[in-house]
Amino acid sequence: MMLKIGITGGIGSGKTTVCKVFEILGIPVFYADTIAKLAMTSDSALIKGVKKTFGSESYHPDGTLNNKYIAAIVFNQQAELDKLNALVHPAVFKAFEEWTKTKVKSAPYVLKEAALLFESNSYQMCDRNILVTSPVALRLARVMQRDQVSEAQVMARMNKQFTDEQKEKMADYFISNTPSDSIILQVLNLHEKLLFQLKHNT
Ligand code: ATP
Repeated sequence: MMLKIGITGGIGSGKTTVCKVFEILGIPVFYADTIAKLAMTSDSALIKGVKKTFGSESYHPDGTLNNKYIAAIVFNQQAELDKLNALVHPAVFKAFEEWTKTKVKSAPYVLKEAALLFESNSYQMCDRNILVTSPVALRLARVMQRDQVSEAQVMARMNKQFTDEQKEKMADYFISNTPSDSIILQVLNLHEKLLFQLKHNT
């Protein structure tokens, strides 16, 4: 049996950085948010659904996504955003299932990294879920530095996500990413734990 493990964390928590450590150990990582963006211009059923729901202006004549148009519709309009998510999620889920099949022979478990794993309920499709945590002030500083954006811009994105307190209830494993914790040691420990559980079927 191969386990499917979800991994998430608030903006700037370091989930992508943690995933890179798992990748070094040979664990395949499915970056759901990247795949979602790709699917918007490559999954024909999704493209058809988006055009039907939001209009053919959703795409430029060359087939690229009209980001501005879509963003203007879903921005601060929860019902429209829900409609978009309802179209995108099945496409990403299908892509994840297909991708997972190609990894069965080569990996003991796979990771699915998604920013809104809990908010979107997709954690329920995973066997276990990992939450990467770090203090809000540190997360703000990291993202402001990485994306060259203001504190207010990061806060606006942060406020759309569940708090760590809300997410903790849904997670099975935790990785704390602060300057005084070693993410490498924590990933190694968790990796060993998962391999042990797989071996002993627990
Ligand atoms: P987002 O939700 O925005 O995608 P994320 O949770 O994936 O964020 P990362 O991109 O992994 O977070 O990390 C945010 C920034 O902080 C990056 O620039 C990353 O290099 C840096 N960072 C994260 N963890 C550490 C660490 N332990 N040591 C040094 N830098 C770190």
